[in-house]
Amino acid sequence: MAFARLRSGEVAPGQGAARLAEMLRAARDAVVFTGAGISTESGIPDFRSPGGIWTQMAPIDFRDFVSSLEMRKEAWRRRFAMEETFAVARANAGHEAIAALAARGIVSQVITQNIDNLHQLSGVPADRVIELHGNTRYARCLDCGSRAELAPIRRHFEAEGEPPDCAACGGLLKTATISFGQAMPEAEMERAERAARGCDLFLVLGSSLVVYPAAGFPLLAKRGGAKLAIVNREATDQDGIADLVVHDEIGPVLSKAVGLMGSDI
Ligand SMILES: [Zn+2]
Repeated sequence: MAFARLRSGEVAPGQGAARLAEMLRAARDAVVFTGAGISTESGIPDFRSPGGIWTQMAPIDFRDFVSSLEMRKEAWRRRFAMEETFAVARANAGHEAIAALAARGIVSQVITQNIDNLHQLSGVPADRVIELHGNTRYARCLDCGSRAELAPIRRHFEAEGEPPDCAACGGLLKTATISFGQAMPEAEMERAERAARGCDLFLVLGSSLVVYPAAGFPLLAKRGGAKLAIVNREATDQDGIADLVVHDEIGPVLSKAVGLMGSDI
């Protein structure tokens, strides 16, 4: 029987959880970075993957959202069509393992590309979640920044055929996500970079690390002397510089690792 040659950092199938547990045990300040792969295990589709929604339907650019009522209506139609998926999605074993590590003080920050609020729902304190692409479970006014809930926006939209304006200032309401063509949020980017630089273990879960800024964080962490661990079903662009690479489902690997760490940490 031939054995597949493993690249540096890559472990044999079944060995990932034990190695990850060792690395987590040794860590004083672990930072987690999550991408779509952790949320697909909760039934949320990966919008950017081949066959994903955005390969079938062009995403609405931020400039078009701001300049066109028709585009805003289309954006809200799409968002409400997704509500059944988002409303029933629950945090999975991967989210819960991260929340357990945060509760034990091992994981200090969770940087996420996901917009689904599942880290907060799993029990990670909101001030420890850094949302690079925002959050789709509520809306914000583009002018004054006021938060608005989706249910009343939907009721207005379905009754009037168009979304309401901000109750506070009359500005445009948009889901609190970062759209294509919209600038990355500065405060979140700074916090994420500081977390990556300052940690001693950077754990990537479910991101292919292809696009920036995601691709830059593991490099920042490595440059700061941190170990890098990656759990992703497929190979990622940063596997070559990782200290541990596990090509597997996140939930089972991470919950097994936390189980192996025991309760005496
Ligand atoms: Zn406003």
